[in-house]
Amino acid sequence: MNPIDKLTEHFKEFPGIGERQAKRFVYFLLHKNPIYVKELGDKIQDLKNTIHQCPSCFLFFQSKQDQLCDVCDSPKTDKSSLLIVEKDADYENIKRSKNYNGMYFILGGLVPIVTKDTPNYVRTKELLRNIENQSKHNGLNEVIIALSLNPQGEHTDMYLRELLIPLQNTYNFNIVSLGRGLSTGTELEYSDSETIKNALRNRS
Ligand SMILES: [Zn+2]
Repeated sequence: MNPIDKLTEHFKEFPGIGERQAKRFVYFLLHKNPIYVKELGDKIQDLKNTIHQCPSCFLFFQSKQDQLCDVCDSPKTDKSSLLIVEKDADYENIKRSKNYNGMYFILGGLVPIVTKDTPNYVRTKELLRNIENQSKHNGLNEVIIALSLNPQGEHTDMYLRELLIPLQNTYNFNIVSLGRGLSTGTELEYSDSETIKNALRNRS
């Protein structure tokens, strides 16, 4: 395979990028000067060296490996509440609405409706471990499922509720869904602070 095709294959793995777009990226780079390409390479490397995931909530942030993020680490965080989001962008959006002071958990994806197996990027094992820990040590009393209100989000909501039943029976926390305060089809990532504020207020 020649270098053009090789790099095209890499870009094709990006979310939402097909063969044609991938090839356009390659030709874009071929037209750029060597400094630009060098800088791009360095920045990608830099990203992997300086950004790590919080071992508790799985947020990506600038840190050393295995370092807790500000929210998980802060004594000001309300440790009795845990909010589950699909991805980092949803976390940022809820944080920006300044209406929630508890802990977060980033699930990493949604559970597909069609396949029987949960894909391995959805962190169900880690979620169970986290909730068990928080229940034991921090008196967790509320789990908020904050997923987008589309079929896959609702499916995941149901899936998580079922998954959490044994822990809920042991530790007696409430499970509420933020989605019911949003209108149908709403992507959490694109919701404004006012909408999120209302959804948090009307959670049920
Ligand atoms: Zn964290």
